[in-house]
Amino acid sequence: AKAGGRNRFEFFASDLGTTATTIFTKTALMRQALEHDGFVLHYQPTVRLMDGCITGVEALIRLRQPDGQLMPPLEFIALAEETGLIVPIGRWVAHEACRQWKAWQAAGNLNLRMAFNLSAREFHDAACVRAIGDALKTHDVPGDQFMVEITESMMFPDPIRARALLEELRGMHIAVAIDDFGTGYSSLAHLRNLPADFLKIDQSFVAGIPADEKICGIVRTIMAMARGLNLQVIAEGVETDAQLQYLRELACDEVQGYLLARPLPAAEFAHWLEIRRA
Ligand code: C2E
Ligand code: CA
Ligand code: CA
Ligand code: CA
Repeated sequence: AKAGGRNRFEFFASDLGTTATTIFTKTALMRQALEHDGFVLHYQPTVRLMDGCITGVEALIRLRQPDGQLMPPLEFIALAEETGLIVPIGRWVAHEACRQWKAWQAAGNLNLRMAFNLSAREFHDAACVRAIGDALKTHDVPGDQFMVEITESMMFPDPIRARALLEELRGMHIAVAIDDFGTGYSSLAHLRNLPADFLKIDQSFVAGIPADEKICGIVRTIMAMARGLNLQVIAEGVETDAQLQYLRELACDEVQGYLLARPLPAAEFAHWLEIRRA
């Protein structure tokens, strides 16, 4: 039966256009990766501006290709959502993040907040939120060391339900971050009622600092709004000293970006930590 499936796949792949081939290939690759450990998480640190302290990491997924190269998430997450594969992939991410957190803790790296991303389809599936709780239990790790990142646009189809799901996460002491802030359709009314802890300023804004006056105005407004809503702010995509300096003057809480570190494989991140703390 397995050989037949393979032949069928090759038939379609060679008969249809490149796009279809890519879709079939990627879907097959994702299925294989789920079975044979083909996904990898890289970790990018977040740093507190006040004291330079490393607050945690954001886990970012990659897909290992047959040639050993890693495929970035923008090339497969949307397809994973369409095919529903995002559900088992999201479960893998939660488990792997818990496992890695525990390994770091055992190695003496305490209090590293582990953030991971949820896509719309995962977030709107109540079973997914429960699966995160299961992962925490299975690995016996505390929820208050974890954070989920969701985007504004994920809240809008059903803000009441979104709120309930976020409350559920918070019930497990998991922090909630609003990712890519400023790029979606934010309604201040909804934001006011949102059970979130962090707001991540999208890198497209950070890129305009400090040269673009309008963008700087937007960033200052976001900062003021976050203060009013009692949200901590993380600026993502920080690449230059000038950006860092500007964000420090605005009393931005945390920064993340290539200036500090790229997303790194677990072992390289541990090494980065060692050097940084020495
Ligand atoms: P995101 O959550 O907004 O993640 C930030 C992206 O910006 C990452 O891309 C990161 O590598 C990149 N980045 C970090 N610092 C800099 C910088 O200084 N400059 C620039 N130009 N880029 C920077 P990546 O890893 O390719 O991830 C892309 C997106 O894929 C993520 O955007 C997130 O939405 C999604 N994603 C990643 N991992 C997962 C996952 O496990 N599950 C789900 N559902 N989505 C994920
Ligand atoms: Ca994110
Ligand atoms: Ca982001
Ligand atoms: Ca993004």
